[in-house]
Amino acid sequence: MASGLHLARVRCTGCGDCCRGLRVPVTFADLGRLVAATAQAPGDLIEWASPEQVDVTGEPSSLVLLAPGRRVMLLRHAGGACRFLDGEDRCQIHAARPRACRAYPLHATFGARGGLKRLRVLRGLACPFELSAVVDWVGLRREHQALGAELAAHHAAVAAWNRIQEHRRRLGRPLGSEGELWARVLSDQPQLSQPISDMPMQP
Ligand code: SF4
Ligand code: SF4
Repeated sequence: MASGLHLARVRCTGCGDCCRGLRVPVTFADLGRLVAATAQAPGDLIEWASPEQVDVTGEPSSLVLLAPGRRVMLLRHAGGACRFLDGEDRCQIHAARPRACRAYPLHATFGARGGLKRLRVLRGLACPFELSAVVDWVGLRREHQALGAELAAHHAAVAAWNRIQEHRRRLGRPLGSEGELWARVLSDQPQLSQPISDMPMQP
């Protein structure tokens, strides 16, 4: 795993390998932006995976309780790649892509006063990045803070949903449907229709 301040110059070469080789976790905030940008139903944009299908070791709070069991939301794949990767390895939903895509392959950690503590490159696969971007500390920090805030809100929403489902189960009632979930988590997020500013390492 590479690390160091020089990584702030990481520029994605646009090879598309991560869009084929990795699965992207999606938050409700991501999903709200995707629905607004594509006018497609949530169920067409994501797919559910069980803890046996993907490693959720670091994200147990993302597991949503549904009738088949606990599931994590992933960006939908089709033909061996993210369904939004086109034939020229470009992202068709660049402005509305999930936060996890925006930061990749960088992972930054900032201190309480906003100073950079650590910068590293995630190596889920061999990313052929270049070190040619102009450093944008403000952009890196803004993305880090937004990702953290949206993840926290996502985990809180998942926990609230799961509590209701556990209560239903104790009462012997059927668990909520996907439609009920979407109505609950997407209706209060009108601001998510706004595209978000871009990250410095993207071409
Ligand atoms: S982040 Fe890396 S693997 Fe993904 S498209 Fe860019 S260069 Fe390729
Ligand atoms: S949303 Fe775009 S950047 Fe993210 S995995 Fe899909 S094609 Fe790649």
